[in-house]
Amino acid sequence: MDKLQGIHQGLNRAYQAGETVLRGQGSALDAVCAAVEVLEDDPLFNAGRGAALTADGTVEHDAAVMSGDGRGGAVTLSRHAQHPVDLARAIRDRSPHVLLADPPDDIVADWGIGLADNDWFVTPDQREHLAAVQARLRSRQHGTVGAVALDIHGHVAAATSTGGIENQAVGRIGDTPILGAGTWARDGVVAVSCTGVGEAFLQGGVAHQLSARMEYGGQDVAEAAQAIIDNEIVAREAFGALIAVTAKGRSVLVWDAPVLQAAWREGDKIHTRI
Ligand code: ASP
Repeated sequence: MDKLQGIHQGLNRAYQAGETVLRGQGSALDAVCAAVEVLEDDPLFNAGRGAALTADGTVEHDAAVMSGDGRGGAVTLSRHAQHPVDLARAIRDRSPHVLLADPPDDIVADWGIGLADNDWFVTPDQREHLAAVQARLRSRQHGTVGAVALDIHGHVAAATSTGGIENQAVGRIGDTPILGAGTWARDGVVAVSCTGVGEAFLQGGVAHQLSARMEYGGQDVAEAAQAIIDNEIVAREAFGALIAVTAKGRSVLVWDAPVLQAAWREGDKIHTRI
């Protein structure tokens, strides 16, 4: 199987994992976590095992979850949790906090989350990519994973997980774990998950801005998303994309560069784009 086929299949599996939860009347939050877990397990995606490497050749994961009732959890600089998205979820559900940086392994284990040595996340492919980027033979690749969902109970949720940007400085934190930048959900309005140059998404307050434009400005989701990508991302000479689902079940994919790989359903067919 070639790599592109593997990516199509990974996207398809992730979509189905989320959809299975929703069809069983599960919550949007469970659905987005299930979809993101599949992508974290798949070394073809920049999250979990196979994530992009820092300049030191290590992996530092960022992840966030948020449900439309306004409750979120996030982790940054996570080095050992096998599923960073589950760690973000545990921080939301089981701690009094919203964002933790590299929480101690014993706490992570107590929350029932599998641990691994940092080397376990490092794949030969990513090592090669890092060497090529450092030798200036290749430009940096992006590719955070994320999911958005609306459940039968009318709630929305978003989850996002990433290794960040190839060759990033050790300790660099992107938009993914910052609620309102790379991840956001608000019942009655929208759930959104972003990918691209995190610095632009952070400075543009992108995910929250989408929700605010819709909630307070009455803007259409697709128009608002396109305006934000133009004004906050392209205007900063960055690039990026977002996926969103509204409280009425309309989903949109908006991007300004070929950074978006996605899966969605139309009728009885699951579509994937890469
Ligand atoms: N947004 C991620 C970050 O800046 C990277 C990506 O989406 O490719 O960490």
